[in-house]
Amino acid sequence: MPEQNSISAHFQLFEKTGEPFLFENKEFRQKLEPGEVLVKILLSTICGSDLHTIEGKRKEDTPCILGHEAVGEIIAVNSRDGFEIGDRVTWTIADSCGKCPACTEYGLPEKCSELFKYGHASIHKGSGLNGCYATHIHIRRGTHLVKVPDVVSNQAVASANCALATMVNAISKVSKQPKRVVIQGGGVLGIYACALLKEMGVPQIFCLEVKEERFELIEQFGAIAVDAREAEKATQYILDQVGDGVDAVFEVAGIRQLIPQGLALLRPGGDYILVGLVHPDSELGITAEQIIRKCITITGVHNYAPWHLDESVAFLERNHNNFPFDALVSPPYKLEKLSQAVHEAQQQKWARVSVKP
Ligand SMILES: [Zn+2]
Ligand SMILES: [Zn+2]
Repeated sequence: MPEQNSISAHFQLFEKTGEPFLFENKEFRQKLEPGEVLVKILLSTICGSDLHTIEGKRKEDTPCILGHEAVGEIIAVNSRDGFEIGDRVTWTIADSCGKCPACTEYGLPEKCSELFKYGHASIHKGSGLNGCYATHIHIRRGTHLVKVPDVVSNQAVASANCALATMVNAISKVSKQPKRVVIQGGGVLGIYACALLKEMGVPQIFCLEVKEERFELIEQFGAIAVDAREAEKATQYILDQVGDGVDAVFEVAGIRQLIPQGLALLRPGGDYILVGLVHPDSELGITAEQIIRKCITITGVHNYAPWHLDESVAFLERNHNNFPFDALVSPPYKLEKLSQAVHEAQQQKWARVSVKP
C-alpha cells in the first residue's frame, strides 16, 4: 500500500521579479508512489541561478518554489531500496526518465527528454513541493538520492548537488592526468575545482580571480591565487612558470572576454572546459584556426549525472578535514527571512548563503 501522508509544509513562493516572496503553507496529502520520498529540508543554499531568476535574468515557470541546493532528512518513503525514514540525504537537481536516448544511450541523463528540475518548476506541477526554499520537498522516482555520511556537515553538503557535482563532471572531462591547470574564476565553482584538482595531485593549480578578498580562500582550497585585474600581467605571470602553457583551462566565471586569455594559456593539445558561460552573451571571440592550429579540445559541461553526485559526496567524506568547506557558507537565515538571505547573497560576501526552515 502506498503511504498516505499529511503534513503541513511551509514555503516561499516566487511569482515574479520585483515582487516579494509569499510565505505560504500547504497541506501535503498526496500518496507517495513507489520510489518516491518525502524529505524535510535541513539546510538549503542560494545558488547564482536562483539570483538570476529573482533578478529577472532568467525565466522560470512561475509561481514556483525556488532553491535546488539542499540537504534533508527522509520523513516518508515508498519502496526505495536502501533508504529509510531518518536518512540524511542529498539528491540530483534533475529527475530523469531512464528510458529516453539521453538516459540510456548518450550517458547524459541530465539531458533527458522528460527532464524535471527541482527549484525550477511551477507550484502547479505534481505535488507542488518542487523547490528547496521550503520545509519539505517531494522527491520523484527518477531522482538519484545519496546518503550523507555523518562526518559531512549540512553546510558542506548543501551545495554538493549543484556546484560541486557540476565541477566533478567538469574535472572528469580532462583527457589525462594534468600537471598544470588554470581556473578562470574563484567563485564557488572555481574553489571546488581547486580542491578537486588538489586531491588529484595536480602540482600547479592557478586560479584567476579579480576579487582580492577571495584570494585567501582560494589558497586554502589548494591553488595559487592570481590577481586577474590586469589580464595581460596575469597571463604572463602564469606563462613564465609553465613554459608551453597549461594542460587544461576551466572557464567558470561566465565572462566571454576570458576566452582568448584561456586559449593563450593552453599548451598545444590542451583541454578547454567551458562551464560558466551558460547565457546568450557568450560569443567566444576566437577563430576555428586558433583551435585547429593549437589542436585544442573544447568541451561544454552543463549540470551532471547521478554518478557525479555520488562522487561529490564521497569527495566531501574523504576531505572533510582537508579543506574548510564550512567557511564557504554563511550562518543560516530563517526561511521566513528569505528576502534578507537573497540580499546577503547579492553582496557576494559569502560563496554561499544558507537558509534553514
Ligand atoms: Zn545551483
Ligand atoms: Zn530520459
